[in-house]
Amino acid sequence: MSIGMLSTEQLYHKFLECTGVSTDTRRITPDCLFVALKGDSFDGNRFAEQAIASGARYAIVDDALVAERDRSNGQNHYLLVPDCLTALQNLARHHRQTFNFPIIGLTGSNGKTTTKELMAAVLSKNYQLYATVGNLNNHIGVPLTLLSLNEQHEMAIVEMGANHQEEIALLCSIAQPTHGLITNVGKAHLEGFGGMEGVRKGKGELYDYLAQHAKTVFINSRDKTLTVMYRERLKTIRSESTFAEAIFYPGEETDLIQESPVVVFRDSAGHEVTTHLPGRYNFENMLAALAVGDYFGVSPEDANRAVSDYNPTNNRSQHITKGTNTVLLDAYNANPSSMAAAIQQFAATPAKRKVVILGDMYELGSESEAEHAALGELIAKSKFDLVILAGKDMHYALGALPNAYYFPDKFSLHNWLMDNPMTDTHILVKGSRGMSLESVIPFI
Ligand code: ATP
Ligand code: MG
Repeated sequence: MSIGMLSTEQLYHKFLECTGVSTDTRRITPDCLFVALKGDSFDGNRFAEQAIASGARYAIVDDALVAERDRSNGQNHYLLVPDCLTALQNLARHHRQTFNFPIIGLTGSNGKTTTKELMAAVLSKNYQLYATVGNLNNHIGVPLTLLSLNEQHEMAIVEMGANHQEEIALLCSIAQPTHGLITNVGKAHLEGFGGMEGVRKGKGELYDYLAQHAKTVFINSRDKTLTVMYRERLKTIRSESTFAEAIFYPGEETDLIQESPVVVFRDSAGHEVTTHLPGRYNFENMLAALAVGDYFGVSPEDANRAVSDYNPTNNRSQHITKGTNTVLLDAYNANPSSMAAAIQQFAATPAKRKVVILGDMYELGSESEAEHAALGELIAKSKFDLVILAGKDMHYALGALPNAYYFPDKFSLHNWLMDNPMTDTHILVKGSRGMSLESVIPFI
């Protein structure tokens, strides 16, 4: 006997019997719902049995043979669907529709997670808030984020990442944000988006969604690209007679007093706020969090305290003291705009001796050579005491940096660092996630 496919409605009833959702057999919790996703090198259907044995209540599978085997054993654990990923996304869309509290969609080339965490710190002062955990921001992470919402929550922040067109549109169709913010539009994932125009279009899908559904957007009025993007979209939207409510921030009166070693700013009421994060770019992230907090009624005192207390612990702009050296560890990721921001910020930091240790920027496709070469020129202008480069494509930066030390991989870099200890030095460490340059810390 062959088994019928379940509809989203039927799946949803099963989901409600479960305690949570997992796509990883190593993270099964009692009575959770396991979803058998496929990757490049694995097929979750093959782990469904293990998931049930570990305590999952049901497993969504898209391999009929797996489901039939279970049924013939007299069990009813397997929920057969045409495609597990689509089922996960449909389930999340359905679940989301059962809530009518504000859901803030957040995308951008850089600073999404930092802004999300700052916003979460601010909004948690007044609301039971759920925010994307870590960096779960893709076509799987966004559905999992939404499926974690429950009736105790009063608000959610959903980080949305994308490296190609139509992705933010899909994530919006699942999260159905009522509010949205694009941190910035820069040179990230150029390969998948098809150049800068492609990035603008791809990220702009958040504005499109919010406009088409007459929701609210927060726009950094000091960011020309974003204001132009918004205006361009307004034209199309007017003709459709819907529009987004636009909240422009910041007001004139918010001033950056100091950007390194940490940001200190003066808020609109004249209070001086000292934070744990360095750099003008983090100031931008803070302004976004404060604007959203203000809109949702968090008092300036609470919002300032949330921002000043926030301290990241995840390789994003961390200050580490190693002996007499100070390391600015920013090894979480890198692309041309975040590299430029970090380098300019580091160059402006007063210090006796400054060294940069930089790794490859990934996902630049055919623009990788030119972008690494341009980075070399930018570094050359900054007159650091020592420039250390690691990774295959950093080779292209050497043209402008004849005195730089170059290592094709990080292991030869580790050896060199062991043989050449530094003292009294300020060190910036940054590279793409795939380089995991935090590995140099023990050798400094
Ligand atoms: P991902 O695409 O990996 O999710 P993200 O957009 O969430 O990244 P974060 O994790 O917040 O970004 O920050 C990553 C790095 O980007 C930081 O360590 C910093 O170097 C840089 N960065 C953060 N905020 C900004 C900003 N507003 N403008 C430019 N660069 C930024
Ligand atoms: Mg992120």
